Amino acid sequence: MNATETKSPSKKGTWDAELSKSMITAQGLTKHYGKFIAVSDISFSVPRGEVVAFLGPNGAGKSTTMKMLTGFLAPTRGRASIGGFDVFENRMDAAQVLGYLPENGPLYMEMTPKSLLWYCARLRGLSKVFTNSRIEYVVDRCSLGTVWEKPIGKLSKGFRQRVGMAQAILHDPAVLILDEPTSGLDPNQTHQVRDLIRSLAKSKTILLSTHVLSEVHAMCDRIILVNNGRVVLDGPVSELSDDITGMEKRFQELTA
Ligand code: ADP
Repeated sequence: MNATETKSPSKKGTWDAELSKSMITAQGLTKHYGKFIAVSDISFSVPRGEVVAFLGPNGAGKSTTMKMLTGFLAPTRGRASIGGFDVFENRMDAAQVLGYLPENGPLYMEMTPKSLLWYCARLRGLSKVFTNSRIEYVVDRCSLGTVWEKPIGKLSKGFRQRVGMAQAILHDPAVLILDEPTSGLDPNQTHQVRDLIRSLAKSKTILLSTHVLSEVHAMCDRIILVNNGRVVLDGPVSELSDDITGMEKRFQELTA
């Protein structure tokens, strides 16, 4: 989006209208790495309360899109909003309503879950009383009790992923963007994180990326399927198919 387009009153009006009705918006998001186009003109809008699966084969552009949506990566073109706030023009407000689980989980390997969560709470300006009650909740929901004071760098992938989930939901945000939340988890842990997401889905707007089609069936209202950096399907889960086998077949057809 160049400066002329941004200042155009009609486009600004349209964007403002979009912000007021959408909890997550991608508008023409595009990312070039040199000559390589990782994401090309991705647009969608997620209303309050919807749980959306962001699907696609490896390298389709899911993480890149999520990084742009969350303000961690500047797009080559396009706009993004979270909770009614333009992510690039109003980053601090957008960050207040956003919980983000990045693709590789928490990166502060020398910190413990305890020190990381208290550090995140301080950065977010949360009160001590609120933080205490939220920490009690996230430690229970993400089962972090046994690793609470161990360095994150020494934890298994499954525990790191759950520390990442705890960090994402700590401030009780209205919007969650979760990049492969069940990646690296064993079947029991996967079950637990799915249960957590299902319970969060009652009160939050969620965009989650996954490779696991059964997860989509179990948790999501809608699918946005990307391939080669473009949206190839956006609709209710039933549009891909009603059962997992049909879903797999359709996924292959659309991403072949
Ligand atoms: P997905 O999350 O769907 O697996 P990604 O968004 O991680 O896909 O990557 C999309 C494409 O962009 C891939 O081909 C990937 O190799 C490429 N890519 C991602 N990050 C970079 C980068 N920093 N520099 C160059 N290419 C990148």
